[in-house]
Amino acid sequence: MLDLAIIGGGPAGLTAGLYATRGGLKNVVMYEMGLPGGQITQSSEIENYPGFEKVLTGMELMEPWPKQCMRFGLKHELAEVKNVSKMDENFQVTLANGDKVLAKNIIVCTGSTPKRAGIKGEDEFYGKGVSNCATCDGFFYKDKEVSVLGGGDTALEEALYLANICKKVYLIHRRDSFRASPHTVKRVMENDKIELVLNSTVKEIYGDESGVNGSIVVDKDGNERDIKAPGFFIFVGMNVNNGVLKQEDGSFLCKVNEWGEVIVDLKMRTDVEGLFAAGDIRIEAPKQVVCAAGDGAVAALSVIERENH
Ligand code: FAD
Repeated sequence: MLDLAIIGGGPAGLTAGLYATRGGLKNVVMYEMGLPGGQITQSSEIENYPGFEKVLTGMELMEPWPKQCMRFGLKHELAEVKNVSKMDENFQVTLANGDKVLAKNIIVCTGSTPKRAGIKGEDEFYGKGVSNCATCDGFFYKDKEVSVLGGGDTALEEALYLANICKKVYLIHRRDSFRASPHTVKRVMENDKIELVLNSTVKEIYGDESGVNGSIVVDKDGNERDIKAPGFFIFVGMNVNNGVLKQEDGSFLCKVNEWGEVIVDLKMRTDVEGLFAAGDIRIEAPKQVVCAAGDGAVAALSVIERENH
């Protein structure tokens, strides 16, 4: 029986593991299906994690975390969790390979993943020109043209990153202004490799066996434009990864809101005793590394408090 099972090894899960083990919990396992670090490892630049004056890549930021967080006995199991269910007073964690493990407490830190935009051709060309990761795929378009779809911080930061590599970046946004921070918007405006395509939506991404050839963009007056860029990067928001909480009858193990975000209190407690959630998956999450890490610490301290009573 585990004292604590942590599901997900991003900033929230790693920090939860650090606080739980350093706080005296003995039998703590973090289940992470990939390399620990989470979605920020896909980001080409992060400049708002306190303590680092230099702009870092997500990979550089996260590289030392696993070593530090596992120093006090946290175990990492490279495994995908399929489901968490209640088993009397405890929880049963079922892994994708069928193994089952019992745990007294659970912290769910499975984060979020990029939303699809729902454009014709998006699924067909996903991985063949359509991408959600500029750091991963930007280099394929060195000295070529690319399109970026979105108007938030991530879209603009990634457009700036791509402008360093590519010949030209078309930044397509359905409104005439951006939701991103003023500092990032200013940098985009000043970058002469970025062309703004505002008040516009994408009708279709088209191509052939070799991949994307371009996209058809429509402005608010109905005028169509053919942008012949072979790379198409989509940054239109995130879905929360709450699948592990789904039960056989389709219900969720704990309360979630209309977007599937887990409802927690200020101690990261769900409405089920012993079940906690932290990071991007919870309600009102600012979806930032510093906040996810803070949540992980709070959740672990709540588990320790529960165990001490
Ligand atoms: P995640 O980082 O999403 O980690 C969840 C982990 O859980 C993943 O590693 C995943 O593999 C694992 N997992 C999921 N399901 C399972 C399962 N069933 N079994 C086992 N493991 C599972 N934040 C900032 O603060 N500043 C920025 O500049 C910034 N830029 C960003 C740029 C990009 C391109 C992206 C994608 C994100 C950016 N963010 C930024 C947001 C930040 O990355 C997230 O807010 C943060 O990573 C959330 O941490 P988390 O631990 O909650 O979840």
